[in-house]
Amino acid sequence: MAYEGTQGPEVQRQLRACRSFCAETANRERESTLATGKKQPMVQFKGIMKKFGKVMAVEKMDFDIEEGSLVTLLGPSGCGKTTLLRMVAGLEQPTEGDIFIKGVRINDTPIHKRNLGMIFQNYALFPHKTIFDNVAFGLKYRNVSRDEIRQKVNRALEMVRLPGVENRMPSQLSGGQQQRIAMARAIVIEPDVLLMDEPLSALDENLREEMRREVDNLQQLLGVTTIFVTHDQREALSMSDQILVMKDGSKQQEGDPQTVYNEPVNHFVADFLGHSNFIRGEIVAVDALHVKIRIETGDVLLADNRGNFTVGDRVELVVRAQRFDLFPKEEFQAKEGMNSFEGRIKDRSYMGGEVSYFIELGVDREIHIISMMRTRIYDIGEKVSVQVAPHHCHLIAIEN
Ligand code: ATP
Repeated sequence: MAYEGTQGPEVQRQLRACRSFCAETANRERESTLATGKKQPMVQFKGIMKKFGKVMAVEKMDFDIEEGSLVTLLGPSGCGKTTLLRMVAGLEQPTEGDIFIKGVRINDTPIHKRNLGMIFQNYALFPHKTIFDNVAFGLKYRNVSRDEIRQKVNRALEMVRLPGVENRMPSQLSGGQQQRIAMARAIVIEPDVLLMDEPLSALDENLREEMRREVDNLQQLLGVTTIFVTHDQREALSMSDQILVMKDGSKQQEGDPQTVYNEPVNHFVADFLGHSNFIRGEIVAVDALHVKIRIETGDVLLADNRGNFTVGDRVELVVRAQRFDLFPKEEFQAKEGMNSFEGRIKDRSYMGGEVSYFIELGVDREIHIISMMRTRIYDIGEKVSVQVAPHHCHLIAIEN
């Protein structure tokens, strides 16, 4: 974990604050596990569905979220992520289905009794309240003594690494600092679940990266179950324990980041996450290790046999742009058991540490390759050989 080791006093203070918070949370969790005798998911969606008039915002969906995990709802604009989150928060009522937190159905539980921390894109701090009052807001409605409020607010500010700002007004802090205050306000109530709706999208790229790590570290240190909404795949891949990919209100795939990235279940997921090439073909042979696919050029390619296709199936071969190796044509020697093509550099863009190439394989056929700049940059028009291993070729069924 990034914060262990020989860190400065500020980080040590953050760690101490988190550890004392974690001890309290762990005691509560131990008590709840002892009471029930088994560990159940922290959040459960059962047949959850939401319609706004004729618009199906979230289609019938079942989904469990484990205690302590960070789950990302990922998908393009309008796919229903925020609606799903708002149903957990109590800001929208499901049209059908139930939501459970710690095994208790919460559909009819008022917002303020759900014990949730919420963080939004626009920070939503009260502009006329001091930072102290902003952070203390949720505690004042919970019968917490003044001394305890002070203690908890100070500890929350240390956790987000902003001790000493309690007398300032929100306008006296930068955007990144305001978002940390929003985090402090959300965690100070020791929520069962933290809900974050695109919390980083108002920040510039560098700050976003820093805050991404900050949120990730804090979430891990606190072990608080978190639902994080984003349409940014990098954010989802780098932070999540589980990703739920959505499209048009329906669940496309759920899984850990590596599974969703390396084994997308359909064209949409493969296309939405990362830069993919799609090559259509038909399976012409299957053995214990490999599947042979005849593609539309007539070439036969190999993919690892993961046991889910048979001869005659029409498939799409998905190959990530970073998985190809590129060689000067005259120096290339094909290796047995590898897939190789010949092509010509049609276009290229220099991206600092890597180069993005579009390679023409024949009439109307091209592939996209992102190549780390280990050797040299190829010129437009140059003839090249391209190689990819069968285990980097993922097969998906062609959808009708
Ligand atoms: P974004 O990333 O743009 O925030 P999203 O994935 O969070 O999008 P939602 O905001 O959940 O998507 O919207 C899902 C669908 O429901 C969209 O078609 C949206 O227009 C519709 N919708 C959301 N809220 C309402 C509402 N209050 N009334 C009518 N339609 C709504």
